[in-house]
Amino acid sequence: MQHAKQVRLQKPRWLRRRLPSGPTYGEVTTLLNKGQLHTVCQEAQCPNIWECFSCKTATFLIMGSRCTRNCRFCAVEQGTLEPPDPQEPAKVAETAETLGLRYVVVTSVTRDDLPDGGAAFFAQTIQAIQNRIPDAIVEVLIPDFQGNADAIQRVAQAGPDVLNHNLETVPRLYPTVRPEAVYRRSLGLLREVKAYDPAIPTKSGIMLGLGETDAEIRETLQDILDADCRILTLGQYLQPSKGHLPVARFVPPEEFEGWRETALEMGFSQVASGPFVRSSYHARELYQS
Ligand code: SF4
Repeated sequence: MQHAKQVRLQKPRWLRRRLPSGPTYGEVTTLLNKGQLHTVCQEAQCPNIWECFSCKTATFLIMGSRCTRNCRFCAVEQGTLEPPDPQEPAKVAETAETLGLRYVVVTSVTRDDLPDGGAAFFAQTIQAIQNRIPDAIVEVLIPDFQGNADAIQRVAQAGPDVLNHNLETVPRLYPTVRPEAVYRRSLGLLREVKAYDPAIPTKSGIMLGLGETDAEIRETLQDILDADCRILTLGQYLQPSKGHLPVARFVPPEEFEGWRETALEMGFSQVASGPFVRSSYHARELYQS
């Protein structure tokens, strides 16, 4: 019989990071507050926030800070949803320009309440950034749009430089980790983008430390490759609060390195793999590598 009591593992030495502070960190947060903008860095309690904000890098979270889904790994809150702010695409573009970004990453909460899941809003945001900063590279990290092919194509049509959709975990763990998502549907999204425009680089990733086996990781990487996706991120799952799934295992840095080598041997062209890797962590360097 299984015990319901959660065991909270102690964070290993390699996962200790500086607390957010410093003048540039303050400057970035002030700018974001001024534009009433959200970032996934703040809402998802990303452990890299000090480093990224200090380098004036952030990942914009569009269409609000509340989500329609209840993924058990994610710190973004569920709650009352507001209609998207029509000025937000312009504000994101303006703030990206003020920050001096040449690589802009945009993601969103999942908006299953909107008929197109927010695809048109993504497209407007991509275009606003491209108009304001013509030499910027734009990466979007999109939700699954419940498999709506028109919505996926709407985003692809807007011409992002990189289109990212994370699988997050191996298929066996979907019911506990992402109960409202469907593994095959997410894979289908990656395929749909390539079918629409094979020239758009696609990117995906999973978290390690949720209880997956090595064989399952390997199979998932093969599925991503079979969907013609060549950019991969692998990072450590961290439990945002007691109400979220516990960490099953802290994967040591050398194992992440082993997975990086394996993924490259399997056929991925760019791989970021490490305890602190998130899909937007050093995204520019990964794209350019
Ligand atoms: S890794 Fe991504 S989400 Fe985390 S702080 Fe950096 S830009 Fe933000």
